[in-house]
Amino acid sequence: MSNAMRWLSDLLAAPWATRPFTPMMHGHSTIIVMHRFADPDRGIEGLDPRALRRALQFLRRERYPLVSLERVFRGLAGEEPPIDRAVAFTMDDGTIDQATVAAPIFAEFDCPATIFVVSGYLDGHLWCWWHRVEHVFETTRRRELSVMVGGLRHVIRLDDGVPRAQLARRFMERCKRVPETEKLRAIQRLAAAAEVDLPARPPARYAPMSWDDVRACEARGITFGPHTVTHPVLSRTSDAQSMHEIHVSWARLRAEARRPVPIFGYPNGHVGADFGPRECATLRRLGFLGAVTNWPGDHATVSGFRSSADAPFSVPRIDFGADHRSLIRSVSGVLRTKQLLQRQLALRSAVAPVDPGIMLDGSQDEAEGPPAPLVQ
Ligand SMILES: [Zn+2]
Repeated sequence: MSNAMRWLSDLLAAPWATRPFTPMMHGHSTIIVMHRFADPDRGIEGLDPRALRRALQFLRRERYPLVSLERVFRGLAGEEPPIDRAVAFTMDDGTIDQATVAAPIFAEFDCPATIFVVSGYLDGHLWCWWHRVEHVFETTRRRELSVMVGGLRHVIRLDDGVPRAQLARRFMERCKRVPETEKLRAIQRLAAAAEVDLPARPPARYAPMSWDDVRACEARGITFGPHTVTHPVLSRTSDAQSMHEIHVSWARLRAEARRPVPIFGYPNGHVGADFGPRECATLRRLGFLGAVTNWPGDHATVSGFRSSADAPFSVPRIDFGADHRSLIRSVSGVLRTKQLLQRQLALRSAVAPVDPGIMLDGSQDEAEGPPAPLVQ
């Protein structure tokens, strides 16, 4: 980015500079997705809690309506009036830090939030598959790993300067492209090649919240939605597994939570890649209000929600972002203005717009610039 562009980008993150963009958010809601929160005592890396506090201070000061995800959906569905500029926070997976670090901060600002939980993870039956991959890459003493994934051999060199976290991400992206059963076998082969034991229960930094934590969070204004039983990429599963993952995670959540929200969060959640009409049909049959995706990083609108029968089951979310400025741009109308301009330019030049989701593909790992956010 040039200095001039950087200056403009910084300028457009100043609260006073964003106010002229407010009309752009008429009829638009921002659904934010977040993952991990830093907790040094547990060895957890993630968003600095001060960043969340700063964001909520900003949103309260600028009088953004902070509403529950369910309220956004009821507005989109026409059951209640839609709220301009509404912001709804969501978190995925149900890791311990979401209960111990994030939930108290959301309560401090009287801000609703919804957590999508992996029921088998909270039940203690598993630890999340990408946590296992991270753990293997972090702890192996081998300098080179040779692992078959989906019929292809991958040779991974751990001592040629590439950060291990980046190598782990590449391996994860490969895993997402093969059938679920093959992914699980590949992770076993990875652990064997790395000579790393994977215990049945996750280490402290990968621990889930408990169902008691769920109920304690509910008392603080947090709500919960299902995010499958084992967190597979649903499009890589059989019909039977896809059905099971949705049905059972919803049943477990209804059994444990006092007021579960009938909105589903897809694992990984890339539109057109990680779920499809099969999953939408299952959710519709179960009476869900809808479902949220992890891409393409757009805002939620009534017209989008009503654009097709499956649209309520593909409601977009926007990543919290790497810094305070990206959040301000997302909620204020600056991001929307930029997206509209980009689409207009793309139309004029008759060049297909670049799908921002492409940066999440493993094939982009070698691209310059900061790494894309890890979406699970
Ligand atoms: Zn997830």
